[in-house]
Amino acid sequence: MKDTLRHQGKRQQLVKIIKAKGIQNEMVLKAIGKIPRHLFMDSGFEDHAYEDKPFPIGADQTISQPYTVARQTELLEVKKGDVVLEIGTGSGYQAAVLLEMGVVVYTIERQRELFKRTNLFLPKIGYRPKKMVFGDGYKGLPEFAPFDGIVVTAGAPFVPKPLMEQLKVGGKLVIPVGENVQIMTVYTRKSEKEFEKKEYGEFRFVPLLEDKN
Ligand code: SAH
Repeated sequence: MKDTLRHQGKRQQLVKIIKAKGIQNEMVLKAIGKIPRHLFMDSGFEDHAYEDKPFPIGADQTISQPYTVARQTELLEVKKGDVVLEIGTGSGYQAAVLLEMGVVVYTIERQRELFKRTNLFLPKIGYRPKKMVFGDGYKGLPEFAPFDGIVVTAGAPFVPKPLMEQLKVGGKLVIPVGENVQIMTVYTRKSEKEFEKKEYGEFRFVPLLEDKN
């Protein structure tokens, strides 16, 4: 589990690339510049870790593209101490970005193998979510709601109602919505009953799957 000067150098290149693609939030750029993304993938694929691309992580799942992680994090508009729920823990990279920014993270994964692996791996490299849950993200985590932000890292065919309900007033839900292609959509809770909706272009995610348990 090494992080060498070569890795660090490549990482700074990656920061430049996503900055050039439009990411402006300094906290996000700093987090990406710091997190050893190569450790989140199988060794042997290290050379791809600092390309701005998604990558397979086993169990038919992917670690999201760095630009996409950065964009979703930026759209959450969170600050240190805010409480965020992530749907789709996957490799844990998105969670690490939030933790690096001082955010309190709850995260849910429905794939048992991935859940187990990431549950062991993240603390090993010093990232400790408040809770990592094996379960169905469509339901959110009502027992720990409300959240300052909710980020869905898989493509949702529709917006799950429980996620809207678990937002604080002023909080944001960042969710890619669609079947084959997704539109990055942000819902801001304006009051108990009112939500403002904004769209931020097309992305491609693995699907948010309905629970089989
Ligand atoms: N945030 C991850 C991206 C993982 S890809 C990262 O940074 O690496 C999306 C993840 O969502 C996959 O791990 C997939 O298993 C998970 N997922 C799909 N449907 C889900 C659901 N209903 N509830 C929770 N997780 C889900």
